[in-house]
Amino acid sequence: MNAPFPSPTKQPLRLLIAAPRGFCAGVDRAIEIVERALDIYGSPVYVRHEIVHNKFVVDSLKAKGAVFVEELDAVPDGVPVIFSAHGVPKSVPREATERGLEWLDATCPLVSKVHRQAERQIEAGRHILFIGHAGHPEVIGTFGQVPEGTMTLVETLEDVAKLDFGPDDELAYLSQTTLSVDDTGAIIRAIEARYPQVVAPKAEDICYATSNRQAAVKQISPLCQLVFVIGAPNSSNSLRLVEVAHRAGACAQLIQRASDIDPVWLTGVETVGITAGASAPEALVNEVVARLKEICDVEAEEVVTAKEHITFKLPRQLVR
Ligand code: SF4
Repeated sequence: MNAPFPSPTKQPLRLLIAAPRGFCAGVDRAIEIVERALDIYGSPVYVRHEIVHNKFVVDSLKAKGAVFVEELDAVPDGVPVIFSAHGVPKSVPREATERGLEWLDATCPLVSKVHRQAERQIEAGRHILFIGHAGHPEVIGTFGQVPEGTMTLVETLEDVAKLDFGPDDELAYLSQTTLSVDDTGAIIRAIEARYPQVVAPKAEDICYATSNRQAAVKQISPLCQLVFVIGAPNSSNSLRLVEVAHRAGACAQLIQRASDIDPVWLTGVETVGITAGASAPEALVNEVVARLKEICDVEAEEVVTAKEHITFKLPRQLVR
């Protein structure tokens, strides 16, 4: 009898899984708001903008009866509408109320906190320098909390150099919640150097989830040749994780699903890192780990840099 062929040996691969990763308290709350609204009101429930920036999450909620639209005009009369976790300009709930729509606000409480700070700075007579990314829904929502012309967007160090305020101008700065901690720190230092009179927020605007996920990926990246960031291309915090991993010395790849992985990427790679943006569910992390186990002989280890215990209350209408 011939000896059996030896089974082909798989490439060994060390897998470092960053923790914290994935869903934050604001995303958990926003998804629960849609699910509870569907239970209470029945389908359809309309959602203005993707509730969180993740196709898997949006598709799962669509399957349960949620309808996603970009503007209130697309919401028919007589159905409830939910505003996404990123927040909305004040004009949106006002318009919904004028139309007699029942609305629920899934804005993350940490985004709402920035909105209230913006109002307070304007009341105090200050012009706001807002550090953020043009066009992101959170930025549009925060600009929509204050009168036009009272807030200036600052995206880069070059933008700081171009500001033309004087030493006597009353200024304050605020920021988007999902920025790069390091880049934002550099922009704040530049603002403070040009305008020592600028008033800082009472506490850091970049949220705990963004900071924790960046710190975790910063820790694993120097040990990895390749880091997979699971998240959507329109997810600000996921894109920042790619930048952080890259700067920490790894080749970083944004992927949405396990099927995005090309096995060729793993050629010659000994250690791979995995993290996930705040809007990416753990199911997608498990899917990626399973896919890597199909391709390689994986030895996985979770690297925990912080524990998170934050939860947010639901809107009163949904608590039964
Ligand atoms: S990333 Fe931060 S600000 Fe955004 S939803 Fe999560 S906790 Fe809230």
